[in-house]
Amino acid sequence: MLKAVFALFALFLTLSLYASSDAQVLSQAQKHLHSANKGDIFRAYNDYKTLYLKAMMNQDEPLREKALGGIVASGKKLHIDVAAYENELRMLQNRKNYLKQEQKYVKPTPKPNKPSKQAKKIKLNSATKLKSIYWRGGKLVLRFSKRLRKHQVNYFKLYDAKTNRYKYVFDIDASLLSRSQNLVKPGIESIRIAQFKPNKIRLVFKNDSVVKIRFKIAGNEIVINATPTKKVKKRIKPKTKQPPATVPVSKYKRITQKTIVIDPGHGGKDPGAIGYGRYKEKDVVLAISKYVRDYLKMRGYKVYMTRANNRFIKLRHRTRYANKKKADLFVSIHANASKHKKAKGIETYFLSPSRSSRAKRVAAMENKADIDDMNYYAKQSFLMFMNNHKIVASNKLAIDLQQGVLHELRKHYKGVVDGGVREGPFWVLVGAQMPAVLIEVGFITNKEEAKRLVNKTYQKRFAKGIAEGIERYFIKNR
Ligand SMILES: [Zn+2]
Repeated sequence: MLKAVFALFALFLTLSLYASSDAQVLSQAQKHLHSANKGDIFRAYNDYKTLYLKAMMNQDEPLREKALGGIVASGKKLHIDVAAYENELRMLQNRKNYLKQEQKYVKPTPKPNKPSKQAKKIKLNSATKLKSIYWRGGKLVLRFSKRLRKHQVNYFKLYDAKTNRYKYVFDIDASLLSRSQNLVKPGIESIRIAQFKPNKIRLVFKNDSVVKIRFKIAGNEIVINATPTKKVKKRIKPKTKQPPATVPVSKYKRITQKTIVIDPGHGGKDPGAIGYGRYKEKDVVLAISKYVRDYLKMRGYKVYMTRANNRFIKLRHRTRYANKKKADLFVSIHANASKHKKAKGIETYFLSPSRSSRAKRVAAMENKADIDDMNYYAKQSFLMFMNNHKIVASNKLAIDLQQGVLHELRKHYKGVVDGGVREGPFWVLVGAQMPAVLIEVGFITNKEEAKRLVNKTYQKRFAKGIAEGIERYFIKNR
């Protein structure tokens, strides 16, 4: 149960982002940047990061560029590693230059007084921006800044006989907000989205067998359902040494040095949700977490737990612990609750900044009790998290976890509900400097799920699924 978490996040946004105008903050940061005082430079660094977050949320590219420039300049003075921001800035500038050149190139035959239709079209189209891309119930969702018209989307299929690959291509008249991305769906070799032309985004599904693609354009979204058909296994005679079909032990060995922090939600004075049969969330998630730890340790991972007993821990101390342990992954384990006793399903969340409307809605549920918990450093860490590649990595991890759990449980149980992979502003994930996800293991308020959740065998199988998902993630993302 994370309502309080939502509220905190909303408050934090309101407090930190709307306090003063961008221009004011910028000019102040500029002053501080050139100060001789280290404290001032640090202040500038923090201000630039706040601006960066705001720019990301408002899709404000000019502000983003200024903020990135400031982060890099101040960060270097403070000997902070800002390589990721520097890269992002470079890409942003490269794209801008590219767009400029392209416009020049298009120009040669302009009519002196009327802007050409072509130029007008580019201008119009580039106003549509891709705001976010994520998986929802197994479907890929692309959300744009405005209503998308049918003629803006061109879908076609290709078959490359040379490489024996099927390609499914979406060309969309719009611009990509940030860098190109690779997405992951089991059964599909690669899914890539990139800015193909100044006013065109290209999304390509590539696979060695046929993929059934269905999509619909609804409002400002395209929802794509891509289902890989089963591969026809060809008998290929092994030439020399063929790798065995199952994952060899050596593969595990190469990834054993990874460190994982498991975070059982709540604890101590905070029971979390109390559900059917008065079962408490804090007990259920601790039991599952311990099994996850055991499974991962058996496979040679280094595992730490934020709590291994019935202890209360503040939210921000949980990710701080993971940062201290230099963890490669952070997995927070919770159980869901609902007034509707029928609500059920397993959900995995990853942190994303692109939920401002949701955050606003949640702001209504004011919660002032924990406001001291939002200190400056927590905010800082939050901004650290806003790196795009970390969001993508967390999204991938969430998908693998969800799949791992569903796959394992469905071997043994009927009626396992896939609640999907979702994004949200979770305070407990804020501050993690590594890919971080939160899994809701089911609804403790649902009779059937609650009964399963307190059952040791179910807990073990659930834990095994989480461990499988983690392993799958590491194998794919080495
Ligand atoms: Zn919870």
